Amino acid sequence: MTDWLDLANSKKNELFELIEMLVRIETPTSDKAANDRISMIAADLLRSLGGEVTVHPQIEFGDHVTASWAASNGSTDKHALIVGHLDTVWPHGTLERMGYYEEDGRMYGPGVLDMKAGIATTIIGLRVLQDNDLWPDRPIKVLFNTDEEVGSPSSRPLVEESAVNAEYALIMEPGQAGAGALKTQRKGLGEFRISVEGKASHAGAFPERGASAIHELALRIIELQGMNDWANGITVNTGLISGGSARNTIPASADATIDVRVRTNEQAARIETEIRSMKPEIAGTTLTISGSFHRPPMERTPELAELAEKLIDWSNDFGFELTEESTGGGSDANLTAAMGVPSADGLGSKGLNPHAEGENIEIGEQVNRLALFMKALHSL
Ligand SMILES: [Zn+2]
Repeated sequence: MTDWLDLANSKKNELFELIEMLVRIETPTSDKAANDRISMIAADLLRSLGGEVTVHPQIEFGDHVTASWAASNGSTDKHALIVGHLDTVWPHGTLERMGYYEEDGRMYGPGVLDMKAGIATTIIGLRVLQDNDLWPDRPIKVLFNTDEEVGSPSSRPLVEESAVNAEYALIMEPGQAGAGALKTQRKGLGEFRISVEGKASHAGAFPERGASAIHELALRIIELQGMNDWANGITVNTGLISGGSARNTIPASADATIDVRVRTNEQAARIETEIRSMKPEIAGTTLTISGSFHRPPMERTPELAELAEKLIDWSNDFGFELTEESTGGGSDANLTAAMGVPSADGLGSKGLNPHAEGENIEIGEQVNRLALFMKALHSL
C-alpha cells in the first residue's frame, strides 16, 4: 500500500523550490505581461508531465492555461478537474518589501497562501503520481486562470466548459484562514448598479422645477438596506455612491454600486427580482438597474459533503486534522459547483493572512496537502 505521506515528504524540497519560484514572479491581476509570463511557465511544466496543453490568449488579462491527460487505462470515464489561479492581489514591489522567508515552521511571502503553494502542489503532485505509476484510472483536466482575484470575468466560460462532465473538482485555493478548513459552502456574489436620472435646476431659485436624483437614490438605498437578512446569510451593501454636479444645483444624476451575497440559488433569484422591481418615488426621476449574480452560490449538496468527508477522513489518517466551514467569499468553486460538479475547495494550503501583511503557509501541513491531493486523485 502506498504511504502517501512518506511519498509527499520525500518531495518536500522539490515542492518548496517550486513554491519559491512561483512566489518570486509577482503577478498582480492587472499586469497582463506578468501573468502571461507565469502562465507560460505553468504551461511548460504541465507539458513536461505529458499533458495536452492549451494556452487561451486574452486581451485584458493574462493568458489562461488548460491541460488534459487521458486515463492510465484508456478509460473514458468522467474526468477529474483541478482548478487554480496564477494571479495575486499584491502589487509589484510587495515581494521586496515583505520578503520570502521561513520562520517558526511557516513560509512567508506575498501570494504564497493565495495561492502559489496550491499551484506548486498541483504540479508536484501530478509529477509524483506519474513517476510512481500511480496515475488515476480517469482522465484529468487542469485549469490555471489569471483573473480569479477580480471574479474570473474572462475565464468564467473556460471554468464552466472544463467542468462539463467532470466527476469532481479539486479547487486548490487555501483553506479557511486559521484552521485551513475545506470550504463546503460559499455565498453567491452579485453586483448591481443603480443609476438615477433626475432634473437639474437652481436649488435656491427654482427648486420646484428640479427632480433630485440624490434624494431618489437615498430612498432606494434605504430600501436596499432593508433587504439584509444576516441570520439567513443575505447581505446587501451599497458600497459606492456618486452623484450631483454642484452644491447649489438640484442633482440630475446619481449612481450606486451594490454588493449582494446569498447562501442559496432561491435567495439569489428572489433578491435579484426585488432589486430589479424597485420603482422611483420622487416625481420626475427614473431608475436604471443593471447587474447580476456573477458567482452563483455553492450549496452544500449531499455529493459535495460526501467528497469533503472523504478528504477529511484521509487527512485524519495522515495525522492532520481537517475540518469544513462555510464562507462569505467566492471562488471558482462557485462556478464548478453550479455546474453540478461536487467541488472540494480550500484543499491547497493551510496558513494565515490571505490578502494581508504576514501572509504565510504552514510548512508541515503543505506536505500533508500534497499527500492528500495525490491520494484524492488516485482514489476518487
Ligand atoms: Zn485565491
